[in-house]
Amino acid sequence: MLLFCPTCANLLVAEEGEKCYRFGCQTCPYIYNITHKISFKKYPKLKEVDDVLGGPEAWANVDSTEEKCPKCEHPRAYFMQIQTRSADEPMTTFYKCCSAECGHRWKD
Ligand SMILES: [Zn+2]
Ligand SMILES: [Zn+2]
Repeated sequence: MLLFCPTCANLLVAEEGEKCYRFGCQTCPYIYNITHKISFKKYPKLKEVDDVLGGPEAWANVDSTEEKCPKCEHPRAYFMQIQTRSADEPMTTFYKCCSAECGHRWKD
């Protein structure tokens, strides 16, 4: 991997920093931290609402709201707001039908 300094276009040199390797420019103060790129974690795809929320126990103490269940038309649903992907994306609201027999889950 060859990298060039975006400010002065000189070749960056790999060096060992305090915690990680990094590329540093030898002619200006530009530094490119390598671990910053590598440790960038992608959030897992949303398989099921419960995976994100930590299982059915996660719904034990949540508030309910007036939201009609799309499955059984029960007028109320428990809800939780969760940041699922990155901080720049809006919160996702998850619902769970208040009807014990139904228990349908969906998200906004
Ligand atoms: Zn430079
Ligand atoms: Zn329902």
